[in-house]
Amino acid sequence: MSLRSCLLDLLFPPRCPLCGKVLDAPGVCPACEADIRRTGEEDGVWEPVPGLLCAAPLWYEGAVRDGLLRFKFHGGISGAEFFGGEMCRWAAERYSGEFDTVTWAPVSRKRLRQRGYDQARLLAESACRLWGVRPERLLRKVRDNPAQSGLEDAAARRENVRGVYEAAGAPEGKRILLIDDICTTGSTLSACAGTLKAAGAARVLCLTAARTVKSGKTGENGEE
Ligand SMILES: [Zn+2]
Repeated sequence: MSLRSCLLDLLFPPRCPLCGKVLDAPGVCPACEADIRRTGEEDGVWEPVPGLLCAAPLWYEGAVRDGLLRFKFHGGISGAEFFGGEMCRWAAERYSGEFDTVTWAPVSRKRLRQRGYDQARLLAESACRLWGVRPERLLRKVRDNPAQSGLEDAAARRENVRGVYEAAGAPEGKRILLIDDICTTGSTLSACAGTLKAAGAARVLCLTAARTVKSGKTGENGEE
């Protein structure tokens, strides 16, 4: 180990990206690793809304849920690398050669000011680093709607995101990979995909870090 990396380790010791525990070496701590539930061939790519394909490597529960909430609401930005890596590998296997560009479901300008970062953009940047490309801004959130997590049913969530997004940049003719952190009912992804298609996108595929359990009950979670 170089002197520089020794000093960096003293200043910024490696932490578990899910629970934040200080570790001897980078990676996920054994307790979190044992608590991660991965999706599989059966349920890792599905249609949250008819006609809209979404892929997610993880289930939104246990250590993954805690890690995403930490990443999103408590500045746990190291989570971007872990979740981005999982997403990159998952999409590489399932969507290989099926998209030309990568974008994300953005937060509003007001939310960005409050939080200091856009979590979906960080995930997109992290996944793209591993692919050697850069994500492209193709959407803007023009209205600061109430958080999706406060809404119980799919109809209320669909209504809540109506007219919230606007196309930006040049989505015309592109096959787009749209990235967000969590997929619950797919309302946010569907609103974003609809906006991109209305602006001329050829195709939109979705990728999130995690999907919520199948019950259809949204409960308490961090989806916006
Ligand atoms: Zn941990």
